Amino acid sequence: MQTSKLLLKCFTTTFCLLHVCGDKTIGAIFDDGTFLLEAAFNIALTAASEDQENPFVPSVTRTPPGDILETEKAMCKLLESNVFGVFGPTRKGSLQHIQTIADFLEIPHIIVDPMETQNRNWSVVNLFPHHLAYSQIFADLIELKGWTDFTIIYEGAELLPFFDNILQMQDLDTGQKILINIVQLPEGDDFRTQLKFIKKSGSVNYVINCARDKLPLVLEQAQQVGIMSDDHSYLIMNPDFQTIDIDPYKHGGSSITGIRIFDPTLDSIQNFIKSLNEKVAELSENNIENAIAENGLTLDLALVYDAVTLFVSTLNAMKLEEGSNVTCDGGESWGYGSSIVNFARTMEVDGLTGMIKFDEDGYRSDVEIDVLEVMSYGLDKVGTWSLEDGFTEVKRDVIPAEQEGSESMKGKHFIVLTALSAPYGMLKESSKKLEGNDRYEGFGIELFEELAKINEFNYTFDIQEDGVYGSYNSKTGKWNGMMEKIMDGRADFAITDLTITAARQKAVDFTSPFMNLGITILYKKPTKEPPDLFSFISPFSMGVWGWLAGAFVGVSVLLFALGRLAPEEWQNPYPCIEEPETLDNQFTLANSFWFTLGSVLTQGSEIAPIAVSTRMAGSMWWFFTLIMVSSYTANLAAFLTVESKFYAIKSVTDLANNPYGITYGAKKGGATFSFFKESDNLLYQKMYQYMEDHPEYQTATNDEGLERVKSDTENYAFLMESTSIEYMVERNCDVAQVGGLLDSKGYGIAMKKNSPYRQPMSESILQLQEEGKLTRMKDKWWKEKRGGGACADDDAGGGEAQPLVLANVGGVFIVLAVGSCMAVICAFVEMVFDVWMISHKMKVSFREELKAELKFILSFSGDTKPVRHRESTGSGSGGSKKTEEKADGDPETPGSEGLPDPSPTPRSERSGHSRHTLHSRRQSNAVQMAKMRKYSIRSGIN
Ligand code: GLU
Repeated sequence: MQTSKLLLKCFTTTFCLLHVCGDKTIGAIFDDGTFLLEAAFNIALTAASEDQENPFVPSVTRTPPGDILETEKAMCKLLESNVFGVFGPTRKGSLQHIQTIADFLEIPHIIVDPMETQNRNWSVVNLFPHHLAYSQIFADLIELKGWTDFTIIYEGAELLPFFDNILQMQDLDTGQKILINIVQLPEGDDFRTQLKFIKKSGSVNYVINCARDKLPLVLEQAQQVGIMSDDHSYLIMNPDFQTIDIDPYKHGGSSITGIRIFDPTLDSIQNFIKSLNEKVAELSENNIENAIAENGLTLDLALVYDAVTLFVSTLNAMKLEEGSNVTCDGGESWGYGSSIVNFARTMEVDGLTGMIKFDEDGYRSDVEIDVLEVMSYGLDKVGTWSLEDGFTEVKRDVIPAEQEGSESMKGKHFIVLTALSAPYGMLKESSKKLEGNDRYEGFGIELFEELAKINEFNYTFDIQEDGVYGSYNSKTGKWNGMMEKIMDGRADFAITDLTITAARQKAVDFTSPFMNLGITILYKKPTKEPPDLFSFISPFSMGVWGWLAGAFVGVSVLLFALGRLAPEEWQNPYPCIEEPETLDNQFTLANSFWFTLGSVLTQGSEIAPIAVSTRMAGSMWWFFTLIMVSSYTANLAAFLTVESKFYAIKSVTDLANNPYGITYGAKKGGATFSFFKESDNLLYQKMYQYMEDHPEYQTATNDEGLERVKSDTENYAFLMESTSIEYMVERNCDVAQVGGLLDSKGYGIAMKKNSPYRQPMSESILQLQEEGKLTRMKDKWWKEKRGGGACADDDAGGGEAQPLVLANVGGVFIVLAVGSCMAVICAFVEMVFDVWMISHKMKVSFREELKAELKFILSFSGDTKPVRHRESTGSGSGGSKKTEEKADGDPETPGSEGLPDPSPTPRSERSGHSRHTLHSRRQSNAVQMAKMRKYSIRSGIN
């Protein structure tokens, strides 16, 4: 190899010395009818000859497409310019003709076409991958897909060699019988007949090889004849598959696989496209119709660029300065042509289409191919293929699920099961004859409409006539109702008040719940309770009554104690006696109770506190009674006006115990019934047993349950789901929900297990939830439409009067307690002050006096108190004489003894008098005493 290169170098140098080295021309004949190939050729040549002293120049001839004669003329003309080689043309007939001439004259002929190149075409360098390698790519892919029966759809006979290795799969002894149908597409634009024929044959896997411009037509017509659904798979052999618009086929559900030889996103490709567009604009005088889109670069253009790069590199490597010196008419061949071709086949050049190299037979077999798959979001590279490694799967970036899913529903059509269960699905009331989806309305119907809008799919509602949602039969191992249809694929979705349960979740997929609920009881509204004879007790709770009684006793005893403590409460019982021997206290225990009772009953009593402390305690008690009595009166009014209700059952426990012979049941085979069946709670088990034993209490629908609850002939309670109860009690004012929720669950849209639509549907539901649309829809179907809100007035003011509990009136008790404490303190102060005054005045020891006073108080010995220190009364002297007494001895009989009780002194006067003030009023009392004596004589008392 090295030797041959050296020899060639010596030879070419000698040759150039003997000849005059002029322009180095590379010829090209383009008959594609556009400027693209020419532009690509020029760009590549300019790029390859950059920085060369004597650069290669293009000599391009455009010929009418398919005109062999013109092509031949062009070739002969090119030869006159001593070309080093010739590119093109592309039309099959012309190309073969040029190839024959090139072979004969030994002119290197560089082509980029998908055609069978053979050893005998020694002057040809074809950059298009060799047909055997190319067919091997697809044979490998077919094997990977595990197809055992497929149809090859091809366009022209020249493409048949590209199926070589695929066809050979039939003969391989793999133990698997492979069935291959071959269908050739006719000329023209209508392939529907062939495609229909393929459809009829039952084949679902197709290998298509046709020209790039026909490919969209074939796919479009395949879609039209109905062979582009989830069940159909396609392998597209055209290397320009990436340049067609795959949008119409993204959502059809078919698997469409293709290949590409270069990645259009690479910078080198993008730069080339840019230069191409500029060059084409220049050549076509700004005809922008020829411009190439970002992903529109076809393989032939990239290959022309690579071919030029390879050829110029070869010529540069060979250092050839002089081109061919042959003519069409000369009959001689160019001595270097074959050397150039052979040399080119030994080159390895990095091009736009990867590494350009040839196998030992001179074919481009070793190419690296990208395998593409049509996804809902566009084309994606799923693997690579090379002759050496075969197919290698590439790790793809994680596709955002929402993108994958939400788009995958676009344009599809689904069968949606629903049931006539208000308000989820109902028949529209209309005077006109409605058809299709228009016949239905309801929450579920509207929700599905919204989901279809978001995900851009179409649907047809199918009604589950028997209203069976689906339960599992462990004996047969089968599901029934809607569940069965979803599992069988007879419907794509099921939407109604279909509860998500663990058992169902194992069989089908559910979206996120669109509504939350729980099981509860539907029963007749509570009846009016007969009036209660003792309803006057109701305003206060028993606790408050207890506290009230405690406060009454407490304050009464307190007043009694305060009365004894407070000196002011010890009054001279005979105001006309100046120096009484004893003092009386009005706050005896009985009087204290009478005083407090009189206040509570708002009647008062003739007892009036005199001392600050007793007045303070009294005021607090009055305040307390004021509030308590007002509260009692107000609440009593409420109790008397608000009707009490009689609840036959208040909870599920009451229902299970069945106190009034209430029968109960649930929807047959529904989630509520299953809840009781599956529950390990003893109470629920007991209820399940009851329902199981009484199948006559199970209903076919919720509406039947409602009718039985309302029925006068039956005492029936229906266990059902809270949201459905909410709907019913809005319209049926004689029924109500009883008790709380037994569980918490949700309604979801069911679909086949592992459905790709779960994610987009769930996301759309969440979106509707977040936008508040679900709440608005619920309000609409529950509260507004179809008689919603009919029972709103019934419930207004329906709250029952509640007895006041301590929390309502506790504050008054606190005020009373604080006031009472202050009164106690006050009483002590009064008492101590009084003792001090006496001790000071009578010149006795304060301690002794306090001790004696406390001893008396704590002895609680009656309401009469002996006066321990008396001042002797002297007429007009004003002096005082201290008389000592035993603190606890009998008081001396006062001078007034034997006198009748003085006439009662008005309270206002009495209250202002104290022991000491009496003393200071001795003069007036003397007058009074005289009066009293007169009274004694008149009454016959001595
Ligand atoms: N939503 C229930 C279900 O999906 C039907 C009604 C019920 O059982 O309360 O089966």
